[in-house]
Amino acid sequence: MFNEGVPDKKVKTTCPFCGVGCNYDLNVREGKVIGVTSNLTSVVNGRLTCVKGRFGIDYIHSPERLTTPLIKKNGEFVAASWDEALELIATRFNEIKSKHGNDALAAISSARCVNEDNYIMQKFMRAVIGTNNVDHCARTCHAPTVAGLAASFGSGAMTNSIGEVADSKVIFLIGGNPTEAHPVIAAKMRQALRKGAKLIVADPRKIELAGKADVFMQLRPGTDIALINGLMHIILKSGWHDLEFIKACTVDFDLVADVVEKYTPEYVQNITGVPAHLLREAARIYATAERAAIFYTLGITEHTCGTDNVMSLANLAMLTGNVGKLNAGVNPMRGQNNVQGSCDMGALPNVYSGYQKVNDPQSQEKFEKAWGVTLSDQIGLMLPDMIDAAVEGTLKAMYVMGEDPVLTDGDANHVRKGFANLEFLVVQNLFMTETGKLADVILPGASFAEKDGTFTNCERRVQRVRKAIEPIGNSLPDWQIIRDLANKMGYPMAYNNASEIMDEMAALSPMFAGLSFERIDENGLQWPVPSKEHPGSQYLHKDGKFTSGAGVFKAIEHQPPGEEPDAEYPFVLTTGRILYHYNITTAGKSKQLTEFRPEEQVMIHPDDAKRLGINNQDMIEVASRRGSVQAKAWVTTDVLPGGIWMSFHFVNAPTNQVTSGFYDKVTKTYEYKVCAVQVAKAAG
Ligand code: SF4
Repeated sequence: MFNEGVPDKKVKTTCPFCGVGCNYDLNVREGKVIGVTSNLTSVVNGRLTCVKGRFGIDYIHSPERLTTPLIKKNGEFVAASWDEALELIATRFNEIKSKHGNDALAAISSARCVNEDNYIMQKFMRAVIGTNNVDHCARTCHAPTVAGLAASFGSGAMTNSIGEVADSKVIFLIGGNPTEAHPVIAAKMRQALRKGAKLIVADPRKIELAGKADVFMQLRPGTDIALINGLMHIILKSGWHDLEFIKACTVDFDLVADVVEKYTPEYVQNITGVPAHLLREAARIYATAERAAIFYTLGITEHTCGTDNVMSLANLAMLTGNVGKLNAGVNPMRGQNNVQGSCDMGALPNVYSGYQKVNDPQSQEKFEKAWGVTLSDQIGLMLPDMIDAAVEGTLKAMYVMGEDPVLTDGDANHVRKGFANLEFLVVQNLFMTETGKLADVILPGASFAEKDGTFTNCERRVQRVRKAIEPIGNSLPDWQIIRDLANKMGYPMAYNNASEIMDEMAALSPMFAGLSFERIDENGLQWPVPSKEHPGSQYLHKDGKFTSGAGVFKAIEHQPPGEEPDAEYPFVLTTGRILYHYNITTAGKSKQLTEFRPEEQVMIHPDDAKRLGINNQDMIEVASRRGSVQAKAWVTTDVLPGGIWMSFHFVNAPTNQVTSGFYDKVTKTYEYKVCAVQVAKAAG
């Protein structure tokens, strides 16, 4: 039984689930992880952990772990040696490069893997394959955060720190449900409320924290910009804006003032469904506080206007001078454990590590010199573009590390078609996945418990991941696999350990120049950390000194979602995470988490359920223009009439067969939060 027995040793490490980045001790006995206990020296979480961190990592020893390379022969996977598998991949990659060009190959890196894996993957694609076609699942979640906050503030990351949350005075939570998705941050928010903080919640669902809010605005999905513009309208009309901060630290304020003029409370009520008096009260609480902090997650980013949503929140914070000080700022709670880090490491098609642009000649020259190759200055394909190119036949081969896009990306049938159409597919993972089933070669990676490295949490803190047990079977740490493949392809990589990889990355990336395993050993360091003497940065843009020089206001209008309900598909489906699961692959293999919540459930309002003759726990079918899925009904007033809500955690109810392929116009992040569906009681 997990979490029972006396350990031989305890190894402090960082949780592999969400972006909070809790530290705890892995309890090890006879080479096996037998449980998790709190480590009070953990600067992020102290003694706190959530159910996932405490019970979910029994997947490490799942009997379903891949333990040896597999090569598909005559439609069946056959066990192979590492040498045989890597030789085949090197040969096929080289053939495809010669025949179709470097850009006929692409890689998906992973926010589940350590920074060092991600750095090596992007280096492999750029230096060995010769393309910038590398991306990862930030594309499906917080890419609009990176783009939006970089455009407004100059840095695409959480401005403040988790440690500040418990002392917040005002929390404005919009499009996020930390109780389920970031439970330790939710616990700190509840601590703040006990100390007298005010809470404003805006969400289409009545989430747990909505019950504790001073103001709860249950807005229609996809109307965030109208709501935020409405708040700014009231703040300006009431004279609650911080003119001194605006004049000294920002540009283009007048453009925003012009745009929000028409967003009167009544106009906003028509778009959002939020009563005007609630909007006025929320504006008063947020703008008249000495300090107010905004928190959000994917309810903001996963829209066709995701980047605009993020920049709207940045507008609101700058309007009230709530940037560059404690207990304030704009705080995206990043989803996956290392989605911040995988972006930081350059697992993106347009930047090297440290957000140095691939089409900037100086950056290109620096990396060419360090890596000893000629590099492409062409921005690579984003993940949805890779799928489209695979469907069209221009992309011939892919290397997918630590992800299962067939289950996780929007419009899953289209994604499956793309992968099935490739000439050659390599999948590296802990488990056989839906994407893996389509692969030519499967490579077994090692879990976080079996390797050294670092994760970067959502507050920009780079923390140690420490090896507690030997890799299971013949699996290997991901960076070692890529290193060995690079050597097979004739490009020498000679790293002996993950620490050497971090040293190379730090030497090439000014914002991370002060990082080393030695310096982060105790409590990690929050970037920017530009020198070996720099103590790290608790919050960004101190005293209004933005990374970009001045904060930039962006004039943004409300925009409808990519797909709206109509007579044929009258419901709006929104998707999200639940407490007991974490995406699909790893948590889905946890026996304990699966026992907590074994199956998908569709939240539907009682009025709609009654009209359709649906009772609680009836099996229902949810169908869109792209596909359908069946799951049990959960009749609840937590959702609005006309709206339904599902998670995306269950392989036997793949929600993304239904979700839309519309995406954010800047970052191509799928619009998981709004799609038009029909709902009916399942036949039989
Ligand atoms: Fe892990 Fe997140 Fe839970 Fe902390 S809050 S234990 S990081 S899943």
